[in-house]
Amino acid sequence: MSLTSLSIAELQAQFRSGAASPVEAIDALEARIAALDGRIHGYLSRDFATARALAEKADISLPLGGVPIAIKDVINVKGEPCTAASKILLGYTSTYDATVISKLRAAGAIPFGRCNLDEFAMGSSTENSAFGRTMNPWDFSRVPGGSSGGSAAVVAADEAFAALGSDTGGSIRQPAALCGCVGLKPTYGRVSRFGLIAFASSLDQIGPFTKTVRDAGLLTNVIAGRDTMDSTSLDVPVEDATALLGQDLKGVKLGMPREYFISGIDPQVDAAVRAACKHYESLGAEIVEVSLPHTEHAVSVYYVIATAEASANLARFDGVRYGHRAQTENLLEMYARSRAEGFGPEVKRRIILGTYVLSSGYYDAYYLRAQKVRTLIRQDFTKAFEQVDAIICPTSPEPAFKAGDRSDDPMKMYLADIFTIACNLAGTCGVSLPCGFATTDGVRLPIGVQLIGQPWKEARLLQIAHAYEQSTGWHKERPAL
Ligand code: GLN
Repeated sequence: MSLTSLSIAELQAQFRSGAASPVEAIDALEARIAALDGRIHGYLSRDFATARALAEKADISLPLGGVPIAIKDVINVKGEPCTAASKILLGYTSTYDATVISKLRAAGAIPFGRCNLDEFAMGSSTENSAFGRTMNPWDFSRVPGGSSGGSAAVVAADEAFAALGSDTGGSIRQPAALCGCVGLKPTYGRVSRFGLIAFASSLDQIGPFTKTVRDAGLLTNVIAGRDTMDSTSLDVPVEDATALLGQDLKGVKLGMPREYFISGIDPQVDAAVRAACKHYESLGAEIVEVSLPHTEHAVSVYYVIATAEASANLARFDGVRYGHRAQTENLLEMYARSRAEGFGPEVKRRIILGTYVLSSGYYDAYYLRAQKVRTLIRQDFTKAFEQVDAIICPTSPEPAFKAGDRSDDPMKMYLADIFTIACNLAGTCGVSLPCGFATTDGVRLPIGVQLIGQPWKEARLLQIAHAYEQSTGWHKERPAL
């Protein structure tokens, strides 16, 4: 078994026994990436010289000592490029570490490479990257999901032990499902976003992509916690997210929301998720039906709120402070042309839509109303959580789709997140984990089951996920590369 196929926990065991060293882990990754990434294109940049220097003096007694971690290219790592997969940030070098990066470093981890994504995290397929799409490791003609498609693909292809991504409407969970790995979106406020290039600030959250549920807990333990540099990170005690792993599921109640098991879902996805529910019953959990009645409005509400916030957040890319600047003598023309040349079509579409819903005369009809419906969606979850410990549903309505299938139909692309968006609007935590395979055109494609947990109950959520993972073993399947 090659080193790169190991989980974080397994790699750490090798370090401790002396069977492998952090430098060997970096060497193995470098070789694997050199052999594969030309075909997968999960990375936009990587820096093995710095990584090796850190590995040489790694302290393996630290919580993530010597463990290399790949980073979505929307999180600042001092001295490295950070492009958000946009031409507008080409040539920009980060001047500071995001809080999650400082925390990783303090725990001994080694950030070593930057993963591809949809430009400014806007998309569900990684086809909106200005630097070319990422291939799904299970079938190169298909997308890895998005927006964190690079992070998901490199973990699934054993080109990384684990990666960080960001999730605004599903960008961790949906690509994790389509690539066959574990993806956790922590509760809003659990992880500091200081140093994350903001997309929609009331929704964005950073979280891990891993090969196992335990690893997702290990990474969450390191990156979680109140940060004075991000006023939305809350001062809630950081519980050990791995504390409940291995406990049985007696007395655990899971809710199947009737609005999430609808016609239109791929029949193989529907069957796999229903089978997962049956499996949970065999593990001692009780499955009940719940209702999240405002589900049908989630996608519309999201595309009003997320675009409104994006239009404000992206105003800072004006050719003055960062990246691309159009060559002209006239100041106003410089702003306009820098943005026109630097942003891709999906980003422009969202800035225009967001500016529209915030403009006077339309604000009340769109933005304010969306905020009210958001409250109703949040209350749906609060009510459901009075009955159940977690909600169980598909992560994505279908397995990985073909590249090019959706790219000229934004509405079709937006529906890829139909099952993940409400969790962000409600601000709670959710995880996707492998639950089987679909066979499409003779290719095996992973399917993900999503568990949505109560706010701040990541430990409970991972306990529930882990029990399934360990008793099924889907997570051990790897693409033949
Ligand atoms: N696919 C959704 C969008 O395009 C979600 C993206 C995300 O979570 N960053 O906005």
